[in-house]
Amino acid sequence: MLIEDGKIAAVGPGVSAGERCEVIDASGLIVAPGYVDVHVHGSAGHDTMDGTTEAIAGMAKFFATRGVTSFCPTTLTASREAIMASVKAVHECQQNPPEGARPLGVHLEGPYIEVGKKGAQPEQYVRPAEADEYREFFSLGNIKAITLAPEIEENKDLISFARSRGAAAVVGHSDASYEQLAEAVKLGLNHATHTFNQMGPLHHRKPGTVGGVLLLDEIYAEFIADGVHLHPAIVDLIVRLKGPDRAVAITDAISGAGMPDGEYELGGQKIVVKDGAVRLADGTLAGSCLTLDRAVRNIAKFTGRPVAECIRMATLTPARSIGVADRKGSLEPGKDADVVLLTPDLEVKATMVMGEVVYQA
Ligand SMILES: [Zn+2]
Repeated sequence: MLIEDGKIAAVGPGVSAGERCEVIDASGLIVAPGYVDVHVHGSAGHDTMDGTTEAIAGMAKFFATRGVTSFCPTTLTASREAIMASVKAVHECQQNPPEGARPLGVHLEGPYIEVGKKGAQPEQYVRPAEADEYREFFSLGNIKAITLAPEIEENKDLISFARSRGAAAVVGHSDASYEQLAEAVKLGLNHATHTFNQMGPLHHRKPGTVGGVLLLDEIYAEFIADGVHLHPAIVDLIVRLKGPDRAVAITDAISGAGMPDGEYELGGQKIVVKDGAVRLADGTLAGSCLTLDRAVRNIAKFTGRPVAECIRMATLTPARSIGVADRKGSLEPGKDADVVLLTPDLEVKATMVMGEVVYQA
């Protein structure tokens, strides 16, 4: 592969290095596209809801060590001001990119969700969509996805609005029936937040939100392959039904990811990280401490799929799901030189962002 000015210039046999090229020898390693995490709240002690550029920069630096080259900092259900502060901080980081992984834009998780499926989203801020408010969220042009409950009448206009602004319209924290979800797909809904977690379950006479997410081909289905949120067999089921071109590996990680067990914060709530799980005081799962490199190793283990397919679910498929596959997600001429070098057992050896090596094991 030949890289020039941060872009992939050529790939394949017959590509030769010019005299002034720096040569990186990757023999014995897998050369893969950099991982893309479209749903991640925080890591290494930082949280998107801190609303600061320092928080985004801290996340970016940590993600590079896990093979992630771009990500969508993800907000929580919160006040208008708090969400807007995060949207602005991400926008600033897109103008002046921090060292490490690049923020692609925001994934708004809430606040327009179903209160009965709130999970760890703070209930006092759950509300129906309001055009004046969401237009402000979208005003800086950097929203890449918004998770909402499409069965709520006020939220329906937002589906086509989000798509018209280039963002994914995402079902999540929802109890939509199969029929309601199918209607929402007609309006443009095309993505699902952490499939099975905090969504109406699958029942043989009521296929529910989960049934719709699994069966409606338009929907990209996120899933958390940490072995805690989903049984390994359910990860296999999602991948078999959606296929590697619709199944999207995410982490949904929170600030405690990459940190020792202990107490952390998620959008102002106390959370406990213990034995690979993150919970509120009442035991509710509250995001994960998964990293995307581990997710890919887990998917390989849980599904037995070829390595290239497991990697695609953390690269090209997420990039497509949020509309950035013209520059991210695969190693093709003209795309950004976001590359990860992996050992045959999928451990990260080095990470390159826009042609610069930002991490070496
Ligand atoms: Zn989340």
